Amino acid sequence: MDQRAATLLILGASGDLSSRLLMPGLGQLLAADPSLDLQLLGAGVEEYTVEEWQARVTEAFSGAEDTDGNLARAIEKTRYLTADVTTTADMQRLLDACDNPPAIYFALPPAVTVRSCEALRALDLPKGTSLALEKPFGTNEESAHSLNELLRGLVPEDRVQRVDHFLGRSTVLNLMGLRFANRIFEPLWNNQHVQSVEIVYDEQLALENRARYYDQAGALIDMIQSHLLQVLAVFAMEPPTTLHAEDVRDAKGILLRSTRIWGDDPKTAGRRARYTAGEFEGRSLPSYADEEGVDPARKTETLAELTVEVQNWRWAGVPFLLRSGKALGARRREILVTFKPAPHIPDGLQGTALPDRMRISLSPDELALEINVNGPGDPDYIDRVSLDVAFQPGTLPAYGEVLQGIVKGDPTLAVRGDTAEQCWHILEPVLAAWRADEVPLDEYPVGSTGPESWSGLPGI
Ligand code: NDP
Repeated sequence: MDQRAATLLILGASGDLSSRLLMPGLGQLLAADPSLDLQLLGAGVEEYTVEEWQARVTEAFSGAEDTDGNLARAIEKTRYLTADVTTTADMQRLLDACDNPPAIYFALPPAVTVRSCEALRALDLPKGTSLALEKPFGTNEESAHSLNELLRGLVPEDRVQRVDHFLGRSTVLNLMGLRFANRIFEPLWNNQHVQSVEIVYDEQLALENRARYYDQAGALIDMIQSHLLQVLAVFAMEPPTTLHAEDVRDAKGILLRSTRIWGDDPKTAGRRARYTAGEFEGRSLPSYADEEGVDPARKTETLAELTVEVQNWRWAGVPFLLRSGKALGARRREILVTFKPAPHIPDGLQGTALPDRMRISLSPDELALEINVNGPGDPDYIDRVSLDVAFQPGTLPAYGEVLQGIVKGDPTLAVRGDTAEQCWHILEPVLAAWRADEVPLDEYPVGSTGPESWSGLPGI
């Protein structure tokens, strides 16, 4: 078997992302791809002996089955270096330890990532080095732009992976297969036939001790800015000619450049709320404002809704609702397409013909097509049925897919620099209006569907 040698250098390797998601994902990738000959280097401020570090990696890999001995080989080779990754001298020391041009994963707090990239500026990076950056990419359009400028001075754009673990390869392929490998959906995928689209990520989980990060971000930045706009782009983009990174990222970029908040009015296009104390599924949860580490005066929202419009021929006039929240009564992760009603129901057909709806559930990926049919008891009577199918799940977990793209040098799933800036640009007026307190911060009890006063889509 041909072996492909690669080096993955994780900065911040003792942190939560690295131990809980990155390294377990890597274990699954190594098990699935025995041809990958990986040198894993960890770096951070903590100190580990070789044995301690190998024990951590072994623990993180424990969910993967080592059928070809590839995990054992990677564990044998892995090393950890204590380093301050914001200093040029330590970064040089880390680069010197790499056997191959490295993929450098910044599993660091965002401000430390920027300083670490600045430290790289003085160094000659080996040809073929790639850089993987986590969300949030910048804190606004301007800082995202500066970070892009900094990265541009280090490596070519197609060697920068702005990670979006939310929209995995299998989900993107499922969406594209559904749209572009069928004749019957694509002709309806436009403003002539679609009434509205909802892209929703509702969680039952509350804050779960993540105040340090979440209280600075809130639902709008945590989910809508970084993830749901990417889902919108894949759902609504024009058909790409190929699935190559360039074609897919061009199509997504064009779509997002046509996207504006509804009515260009930040006061009405979105709404925000935060949860109040309550009992949910036998657990008693405090109000968000009383959670440890939260500064209530920041008025961080835990539920956000935003209506946007894609201003092009295909979609003009169709509201797209982007919604995400925490501590809600039901978990809901889906794209819900509501079609326009049939133009005429013949006299004699009884019952109510509701608009057709397509529900694309995300993780697990499933499709439900809700349509009207006659019967089953009475052929004069219209009934509602749902045609359901499960998509093929991916073989790797989300971070396994992310790392696969990184070590293969395939940026298809990564967010391109201009797109990262554009996602901030779309939201900037809403963020400004919310920070200026021009939009009320509503409340909803833990375990509910949201504020009682909310109905319909904001701005419509
Ligand atoms: P943590 O704070 O848990 O980890 C960051 C790591 O960086 C720690 O090990 C920290 O060491 C280390 N570090 C900080 N400063 C330096 C320095 N100067 N030199 C070397 N190491 C340093 O953060 P997370 O792992 O949770 O998150 C990392 C990134 O991933 C963030 O951008 C986050 O937004 C993103 N992310 C996280 C997710 C998660 O579920 N955790 C999910 C999606 C994205 P020490 O603790 O000793 O200071």
